Amino acid sequence: MEGLGSLLFFAILFFIMMRFGCGAHMMHGHGGHSRGTGKAVKYIDPVCDMEVEAEQGYGKMHGGKLYRFCSRSCLDKFDADPERYLNKEQGEKHEM
Ligand SMILES: [Zn+2]
Repeated sequence: MEGLGSLLFFAILFFIMMRFGCGAHMMHGHGGHSRGTGKAVKYIDPVCDMEVEAEQGYGKMHGGKLYRFCSRSCLDKFDADPERYLNKEQGEKHEM
């Protein structure tokens, strides 16, 4: 009697594990593979508009915000005239 009960219990447990295991895997594969959703922070290099990952390139604080640059030369360009690259984005809004 006891054996049959535990067998059924394990059968149900196995079934649930298969279900949930599979579902979790599928969700993971769909959402997380193509693009890192929120985990890997990416910055836009304001000089050349390239995506720069948090651990790559060069970083610089400007006006309380961290900017990242793909290369040293982009950082130097930004350093020489930061307003020029920052106003590039906002300039379109003020256009009449
Ligand atoms: Zn760059």
